[in-house]
Amino acid sequence: MGELLADHTTLRLGGPVHRLLTHTDPAAWPDVVRSASAEGTAPFVLGGGSNTLADDAGYPGTVIRMATRGAAIRPLGGDLVEVVVQAGEPLSALVAFAVDQGLSGIEYLGGIPGTTGAAPVQNTGAYGQQISDTLTHVVAFDWRLERIVELRAADCGFGYRASTFKSQLGRWTILALGLRLLRSASAAPVAYRHLAEAMGAPLGARPPLTQAAQAVITDREQRGLALPGSGPDARQAGSVFLNPVITPVQEAAVRRAGGPVHRDQSGGQRTSAGWLLEQCGYRPGSRIGPGVYCSDTRTLTLTTRDGATAASFTSALRQLATEVFEAYGIRLCPEPVRPGLTTGWLEVPAMPSHRAVAKPSSPNQPPAVGSRMW
Ligand SMILES: Cc1cc2nc3c(=O)[nH]c(=O)nc-3n(C[C@H](O)[C@H](O)[C@H](O)COP(=O)(O)OP(=O)(O)OC[C@H]3O[C@@H](n4cnc5c(N)ncnc54)[C@H](O)[C@@H]3O)c2cc1C
Repeated sequence: MGELLADHTTLRLGGPVHRLLTHTDPAAWPDVVRSASAEGTAPFVLGGGSNTLADDAGYPGTVIRMATRGAAIRPLGGDLVEVVVQAGEPLSALVAFAVDQGLSGIEYLGGIPGTTGAAPVQNTGAYGQQISDTLTHVVAFDWRLERIVELRAADCGFGYRASTFKSQLGRWTILALGLRLLRSASAAPVAYRHLAEAMGAPLGARPPLTQAAQAVITDREQRGLALPGSGPDARQAGSVFLNPVITPVQEAAVRRAGGPVHRDQSGGQRTSAGWLLEQCGYRPGSRIGPGVYCSDTRTLTLTTRDGATAASFTSALRQLATEVFEAYGIRLCPEPVRPGLTTGWLEVPAMPSHRAVAKPSSPNQPPAVGSRMW
C-alpha cells in the first residue's frame, strides 16, 4: 500500500492506494494501459481530485492520475479555431491561455479547480457557460473496447452536470479534447445579473474578454466559490449537491416561498440545493458532523476540518439529504464522485409515513416552505 488519496484530493480525505500511476507523457499511454490492465481490477482515474470523495479505506486497485499538459491551436477558418488540450491541463490554466490568446468561449469557467480532462465528465460549468458549449470531440481510451476512440460532442450525452462519462463512470479515460473557440475581443454574453452589475454592463452584454474573465475570478473569491490555499475552507470539493429537478407542484411551492427556480438545458425545472438546505436551518459555518462544516461563506459547500473522515463527510451528506427529503420530498444527489461507485451512491432512507409531505388544506392556503408544510 502506498500513497494516500488524501494527498491527491481537495477534501484531503482518503486512505492508501494500492498503486498510483501518474500519466505525464501522451506517448506513454499504452504502457499505462498495460500496467493498469495487469492488475485485473478497474483503474480509477483522477484529475485534480476536486470532485472526488475518496474512502477512508483507500482504493484497492490502480489509480491513474492524469498529468499530461499542453494545448495547441488549430485554425478552423474565419475567426474560429479549435484548441486541442491534454487531459491533465488544469482547466483554470486553459481558460487563462484562451483569454490571453484572445479566444472566447470558456472565459466564464475560470477559477474552477481541476483538470480539463475531468470537465466533460460532469459537464463542468459556471455563470451559464459549460464545457459542452464549445466541445468538439473527446479522445478517450475505452476500457471496454480496449482501444482509443474519438467521441463527438453529440455522442457524449451532455446535460446539466451530466454526461455519458458520468453515467458510465470508469468506462472511458479522457486523454485529450477539442474546443471550438472564437477569436474575439469580447466575451460571450453575460448571463448572470450580479456579474453583469459587477462589470457595470447590462445583462446579455458582451463585455471585454479580459474584463469578464477577471470579474469571474473576483466574484468567485467574494462568494466562496474559489479554493483558498489555506484557512478553514481550504479543504472542500465545492458544491456538494446538484440543484435538484422539481415537479410542477414543488415548483409552485418554491415560487410561493420566494425560492429560485430555473430551467436547465434539458428543459427540467430545478431549484437551488443551497436554498433548500437553508430552509432546513443550515447556514454558512454550520457544523454538520465531526469535522464537517458548511463553509464560512456558502451553505452548499461543505469543508473538512480536524477530525473529519470520509465516513463523517458521507454521514453529513446523508443527514442533509435526508432532512431535505423528509421536509420537502425532494431528493438531493451528491455532486462528488466516490471511486469505484456509481453516481447514486448516497442512499437516503425512504420517507417515514408520518413525515410525508403535507398537502395544503385548501387551494387557498398554500403550504409555507419555511414551515416545512409542502
Ligand atoms: C472551490 C471549488 C469550486 C468548484 N466550482 C465548480 C463550478 O463552478 N462548476 C463545476 O461544474 N464544478 C465545480 N467544482 C467541482 C470540480 O472542480 C469540477 O467538477 C472539476 O471539473 C473536477 O475536476 P478534477 O480534475 O478535480 O476531477 P476529479 O475530482 O479528479 O475527478 C472527478 C471525476 O472525473 C473523473 N475523471 C477525472 N479525470 C478524468 C479523465 N481524464 N478521464 C475520465 N474521467 C476522469 C474521475 O474518475 C471522477 O469520476 C468546484 C470544486 C471546488 C473545490
